[in-house]
Amino acid sequence: MTLMTGKEYVESLRNLDIKVYMFGEKVENPVDNPIIRPSINSVAMTYDLAHDPEYEDLMTTTSHLTGNRINRFCHIHQSKEDLVKKIKMQRLMGQKTASCFQRCVGMDAFNAIYSTTYEIDKEKGTNYHERFKKYLVYCQDNDLVVDGAMTDPKGDRGLSPSQQEDPDMYVHIKEIREDGIVVRGAKAHQTGSINSHEHLIMPTIAMREEDAAYAVSFAVPTDAKGVFMIYGRQSCDTRKLEDDADIDLGNNTFGGQEALVIFDDVFVPNERIFMCKEWEYSGMLVERFAGYHRQSYACKTGVGDVLIGAAALAADYNGVPKASHIKDKIIEMQHLNETMWACSLACSYEGVKTESGGYLIDLLLANVCKQNVTRFPYDIARLAEDIAGGLMVTMPSEKDLKGNFTGPWVEKFLKGKIGADTENRMRVLRLIENITLGTAAVGYRTESMHGAGSPQAQRIMIARQGNLESKKEMARKIAHLDVSKDNF
Ligand SMILES: Cc1cc2nc3c(=O)[nH]c(=O)nc-3n(C[C@H](O)[C@H](O)[C@H](O)COP(=O)(O)OP(=O)(O)OC[C@H]3O[C@@H](n4cnc5c(N)ncnc54)[C@H](O)[C@@H]3O)c2cc1C
Repeated sequence: MTLMTGKEYVESLRNLDIKVYMFGEKVENPVDNPIIRPSINSVAMTYDLAHDPEYEDLMTTTSHLTGNRINRFCHIHQSKEDLVKKIKMQRLMGQKTASCFQRCVGMDAFNAIYSTTYEIDKEKGTNYHERFKKYLVYCQDNDLVVDGAMTDPKGDRGLSPSQQEDPDMYVHIKEIREDGIVVRGAKAHQTGSINSHEHLIMPTIAMREEDAAYAVSFAVPTDAKGVFMIYGRQSCDTRKLEDDADIDLGNNTFGGQEALVIFDDVFVPNERIFMCKEWEYSGMLVERFAGYHRQSYACKTGVGDVLIGAAALAADYNGVPKASHIKDKIIEMQHLNETMWACSLACSYEGVKTESGGYLIDLLLANVCKQNVTRFPYDIARLAEDIAGGLMVTMPSEKDLKGNFTGPWVEKFLKGKIGADTENRMRVLRLIENITLGTAAVGYRTESMHGAGSPQAQRIMIARQGNLESKKEMARKIAHLDVSKDNF
């Protein structure tokens, strides 16, 4: 058992025969593709920090199954302290990459499947939990990146899986064999899919009996026969293909990644199946995965730290750091960022032990956390744009800065505060552009809205977990209501 370094992780991807398409063509070497590579660099950071003595307590832990030292991204949380360390690790990763580092979905899938399989087995006498533990040890021992794949394309949202015109709109069991199953369908918006060694599939909604063929959870290697991906493009992504566009990228090293993953009649052997038609447990698995993943949006506070820092630097370069409204706006950004953090911490500290022994976050607080995340990064981005000034979207390119004719003009007119370097000012403004409007905005903005479920999904959970009846009872007692007089 070894903890891979970032370099070893990158090399391990070369050994996979991943089938990925971009702009209508097969990508022959995804690892060195300039559009994909920054997202690989972000995942590699989850490996490199595990070797850094300063961060090893956050980034690594001891497997409760083997006693081996493992990367925390492969861990089943054994205590409230583990839940807190998880989010501290995520904030750190956000600070180090200023983008989505992609390894959380797999960690959240591990934890949700671990406790759910335990409970399925207890009622149904199946042996999914033991199978899953073996699979987990394989991932821990080999320090693998696993894509947690939940979201189906869903077709007509007003219809259930079995009511769809095209049965492939949700991943489903096409055939059951003695040695395994054949599955078909797709998973949409898959974060880090191309950078993962494995894909861990879960159903996307609670199912009814008629949807039993869609209640399926399993694992496949990313390069399994019949699995292929179509890469999701991002705003400003082709800047990565340009020469001399280092400044224009805003963040030339790191990025996130999503893809549409297609399962074209994929065979899954029995030992990799963790739910097979137990439709009654589909809701539990979805709820738990979503809960863990809503806690995980602590990562946005790490990216938020970088954005707040960049906005403060932009004010320095503009010569207005002491203006009272600028100081107040930066305070507001911090207030919003720390409010998200407080909720993520709260749901971790209020975590509870599941029957399996793994710890689950407080579901109400995790949903409140994510509901804030659907709003606050947008407000933080708005304030960053306010402080940055219009130049963050009207600025000439790096080539103009370096051009024989244009260079001196750009140098002269893009100068801010006396004594400040023009290129540095441009770099800070491009970083703000990258996080609020460019490639990183996928992770910082729209993922904050829809990732781990659109806002309404959290409101449904808040309604379910909020225990309104007990609150009514409190009010009845304080107001001395005589309910026998009521006739409704
Ligand atoms: C950047 C990013 C990364 C992601 N990463 C992952 C990942 O790694 N793994 C993964 O599994 N998923 C991932 N997701 C998917 C995410 O969970 C979904 O985007 C989310 O669940 C919403 O689904 P949707 O995008 O299909 O939106 P839709 O379902 O199309 O929702 C659009 C709107 O319609 C509403 N709506 C939808 N259905 C109904 C209905 N039946 N009744 C009433 N209103 C409805 C929604 O509330 C919303 O307002 C990611 C998403 C993003 C944006």
